[in-house]
Amino acid sequence: MVSEQMYELGTKKSTIRTIFEYGQKRAAEIGAENVFDFSLGNPNVPAPTFIQEAAVDILTHSDPTEVHGYTIAPGKPQVREILAADLKKRFGMELSGKNLFLTAGAAASVTIAFKALAEPGDEFVTIAPFFPEYRVFVEACGGKLVVVPAKTDDFQIDFAALETAITLHTKAVIINSPNNPSGAVYSEETIRRLAELLRAKEQTYGHPIFIIADEPYREIVYDGLTVPCIPLYYDNTIVCYSYSKSFSLPGERIGYIVVPDTAADFSRVYGAMAGAARVLTHVNAPSLWQLVIARCAGKAADLSTYAHNAKLLYEGLTAAGFECMCPQGAFYLFPKALEEDDAAFCARAREFDLLLVPGADFGCPGYFRAAYCVRTEMIERALPHFQELRKTYKEIHG
Ligand code: PLP
Repeated sequence: MVSEQMYELGTKKSTIRTIFEYGQKRAAEIGAENVFDFSLGNPNVPAPTFIQEAAVDILTHSDPTEVHGYTIAPGKPQVREILAADLKKRFGMELSGKNLFLTAGAAASVTIAFKALAEPGDEFVTIAPFFPEYRVFVEACGGKLVVVPAKTDDFQIDFAALETAITLHTKAVIINSPNNPSGAVYSEETIRRLAELLRAKEQTYGHPIFIIADEPYREIVYDGLTVPCIPLYYDNTIVCYSYSKSFSLPGERIGYIVVPDTAADFSRVYGAMAGAARVLTHVNAPSLWQLVIARCAGKAADLSTYAHNAKLLYEGLTAAGFECMCPQGAFYLFPKALEEDDAAFCARAREFDLLLVPGADFGCPGYFRAAYCVRTEMIERALPHFQELRKTYKEIHG
């Protein structure tokens, strides 16, 4: 009577959702202040005031039929021109409005990109640890997700493993840097090697292999690191962006796709994006938010809380004896679990009211994710609980 596959997807809760719901239940029992919920990537930094001001001004003074009306499918032309000019200024990319397709956030951006590119038998390669929804999105578009194991010493790319994962059927490699969940930022060296490898594979197989760069955390980086602008290194790059994290607007659903002129068969790729958006019933990105982001182009939110939280949690956990790479960006810490079974570790952490997500959910067992887009004082109060948790393992394992 209904699609089994859709029923499964709609009713089988993700681990993250299950943990979050457990947290809500537990908060009702012992008080919200006693539950240390590190499960969700929901920004705790409020949207900047310039966003509110722009939204209020547009709602108050603009023609409501423009603010609330349909737009053409790729988004308002003047908005795309403004965003393209800003990207050109910031990164030196040769872009104009015709290279941008406005979307309802990164989830829509990547799904439209998968749908636009996927032909029967196509494979999309991603690198662990990875955002678990990629599997759902790729499979919904008729593709197959191929996962390259994590390089856990620095969470860059294991190129030997990537090379064996790329086949005649590879349509694209999905990368996400700054990364959810590892907190790694791919270095310029990594991007150069990736570009070289893919160019060689394109030659071997005689067709383009795209990079789909999922970049919702592009502005969240620490210690002066820069995120390489991938289209400058590799022509066949499609950038998927969102304002969910950089402007703390995850509920508003606004982002874009960039298809640069250098992408193979640009006009057909861009046309396929429009077709994919159409079949996915993505009629247009929200009109009000198109206008708001255009008004705020070139502005930056104060995201310093994340750097502060990153340092606090990283130093607290490493001092307590956890092994962890120092986060370079995004807002997640990805330490090693204190036992091989990361689900068992997270279950034990729950006894200390620490809500953490097992690494296996991201294709990287033996680790756990702690989202630190939370109140700083919650991290401060959680640290003794992490110490207690660590102590129980010391008692068992010495
Ligand atoms: N891609 C990654 C890597 C993410 O972490 C997220 C959200 O957490 C998304 C995509 C989806 O973002 P959006 O809210 O813009 O759809």
